[in-house]
Amino acid sequence: MTDLTVDGTKVGRGNKEGARLFRMWFDELTEAAEAGRGGAYVFVMGSLCELLQGFDLPIVFPEINSLQTAVRRVAHEYLNEAEDYGYSPDICGYVKADVATQLRRGELPMGRIPKPAIAVYTNACNTYIKWAEIWERMHGAPTFTLDIPGSRAAGAQTWPGHPDFENDRRYVLGQLRELISVLEDVTGTEFDIDRLRESMEHANTMNRCWKRVLELNRSRPSLFNALSDGTIYLGVSNGLRGTAEGASYFTDLVEEMEYKAANGIGTLTDERYRLIFVGVPCYPIFRRFNELFTELGGTFVTSTYLWFASGGSNAGFQYDLDNPLESLAEGVLISVRDAMDSMFFQTKILADMIDTHHADGVVYHPIKSCRTVSTGLADNRRALMEARDIPSLFIESDMMDRRVVSEAQLKNRIDAFFEGLASRRQQAAIRES
Ligand code: SF4
Repeated sequence: MTDLTVDGTKVGRGNKEGARLFRMWFDELTEAAEAGRGGAYVFVMGSLCELLQGFDLPIVFPEINSLQTAVRRVAHEYLNEAEDYGYSPDICGYVKADVATQLRRGELPMGRIPKPAIAVYTNACNTYIKWAEIWERMHGAPTFTLDIPGSRAAGAQTWPGHPDFENDRRYVLGQLRELISVLEDVTGTEFDIDRLRESMEHANTMNRCWKRVLELNRSRPSLFNALSDGTIYLGVSNGLRGTAEGASYFTDLVEEMEYKAANGIGTLTDERYRLIFVGVPCYPIFRRFNELFTELGGTFVTSTYLWFASGGSNAGFQYDLDNPLESLAEGVLISVRDAMDSMFFQTKILADMIDTHHADGVVYHPIKSCRTVSTGLADNRRALMEARDIPSLFIESDMMDRRVVSEAQLKNRIDAFFEGLASRRQQAAIRES
């Protein structure tokens, strides 16, 4: 147990500390940009921070920078600038916000980001690959695609010991070795296996704790809101992955959640409906979107977002520090695959979540400008409805573009969904009486 508290209480510490660490991270990025240093541009699904930390590259997550422009209500300025430059209104909004950021020499509402010295990404989203080509064209930055073989079908994920898994692991390991020599060339720094080991040890703590935090929200009442609080935790889990600060933050977060569970302190004073969120949040009206549910007694107990956007940390994978490189290959394979499965083969995952988290309903939020996550959600919903008798809501908007977010329409649909939840509960009570 640590003594670290904010305002003398553990409750709410994760949110306050998360905001502080986020500012600190951005201050460091701004400093690096001002000093003319280049950064490693990475994405949330397979960031490889554990490896990159050892090459002293400031780590830049363009997806997180872009969503911050929406949360701070300036995304439209960035989107318009990129569209004027020639990018289509139809493509991923994060890409366009980043293009405008690059045109503004890295200027963002929270600070300034360094130019890319290298882009390292997986194939978890096809946009990653085309996005990195933009940096190649704009800055001449080298790019590295780590190809992770995905699950061949729902439930077909293989595990260590299986011949397919061992082949895949060797394939990933070979690519990691190539990446190390690219990083040595780009940075002029020699690979140090002890630094990798140290960073992996911090990532082990973070993975273990992230899994535990997600499990603890099975409590009644639920301890945090997966959509609002969860997004703060997720930001730290990505930005500070493989660091001592990140590991310590998550150790404290588990302590906070255990304290809340032991004392029955919920995220809502009157939790009436426990919901699961599927998709990417509505960042242009981030707080209000969540309030449309919480004002009616609904809270999000878990989400697929906290899985795939954590790059699979939810699986709690523990690296073998005696064999760092081999274990990194295994961990990246398992974790990124898990992230992809939670987007593409989510029926079983959701069915399990309904049981473990005692959910009353599932909210699907497909968005215009992220096809990777949104395509197939309607079919996924149908498959889940066939597997489970649970109410669901399907509401469309966007994670960046406020032109396609209609609060009034969302509210109508959400209100009707809650009326359905209430009448279902009433009917169940009548049947039981
Ligand atoms: S398409 Fe979706 S998953 Fe891919 S980069 Fe854009 S927001 Fe991320």
